[in-house]
Amino acid sequence: MSLKYEHIIWDLDHTLWDFDTNSTETILEILHDFDLLGKPIMEPQKFLADYIRINRHCWDLYQIGEMDKATLRYTRFQQAFELHGVSAESSRELSDRFCEEYVVRCPKKNALIDGAVEILDYLKAKNYKMCIMTNGFIEAQHVKMHVSGLNPYFDHVFISENLKAKKPDPKAYHAVLNALNTKVENCIMIGDSASSDIQGAVNVDMDSIHFLPDGSTETKGTHAIKELMEIKEIL
Ligand SMILES: [Mg+2]
Repeated sequence: MSLKYEHIIWDLDHTLWDFDTNSTETILEILHDFDLLGKPIMEPQKFLADYIRINRHCWDLYQIGEMDKATLRYTRFQQAFELHGVSAESSRELSDRFCEEYVVRCPKKNALIDGAVEILDYLKAKNYKMCIMTNGFIEAQHVKMHVSGLNPYFDHVFISENLKAKKPDPKAYHAVLNALNTKVENCIMIGDSASSDIQGAVNVDMDSIHFLPDGSTETKGTHAIKELMEIKEIL
C-alpha cells in the first residue's frame, strides 16, 4: 500500500519534547540553588504556573515578531519574579542570572511527551521520512534532540533562526519544502500550536495533525488528537 504522505514535519517543544516537565524541573532546581525557595518564592507551584503562562504569552509575541529573543529570555522570569514580590529594581538582575542558568540546564533535560518514542518507532517502521521544524533557538534545540535521543528518527532539523522565517510564515514552510525537494501534498505537519504549527500549515494548504493534550477538538487542522498514539489511526 502506498502512503498518502512521504514526509512528516514535526514540531519539537510541547509536541515531542516535554517542555513543561523539563522546564518545571529546571526552574525548581535553580530556585533551590539560588536559595530563593521560602523567600522570596513562598509558593513554588504558583510561581511555576505563573511562569508557564507568562512564557507561553512571551513565545506568542516572539512568534509574531513582537518580542525579540534577548527580551523573551529574561522578561518571562522578570515578570514571574515581580508577580511574586521581587522588586522591579532587583528583578532584572535576578532574571538575567536565572536565565543564564536556565538556558544551559533546561535543554539537557530529556522528558518526552507520552507515546513519543512509540509513535516515532511506528512511523519510522512505516518508512515515513521525518524532520523537525521548530521556532526554538538553535543552541537549545540541538542539545534537546541529542540528550533526549530523538536525533536518529529525523533526517533534518529545521530551525527558524536558520530558515530566517518562523512558523506560521509561509516562507518558513517553503524553505522546508525546498530543502526536502518535495511538494506540499506529500507532507503533513504535526504540532501543538494553533497559531504557529497549524496556522502555518493552513497558510500553505498543508494537511496537519493538531496535538491537543487538553482534549479540545477545536482546530483549523485536518485532524485533532489528544494523545500521540492516536496518530496510528491516521498514518
Ligand atoms: Mg510546540
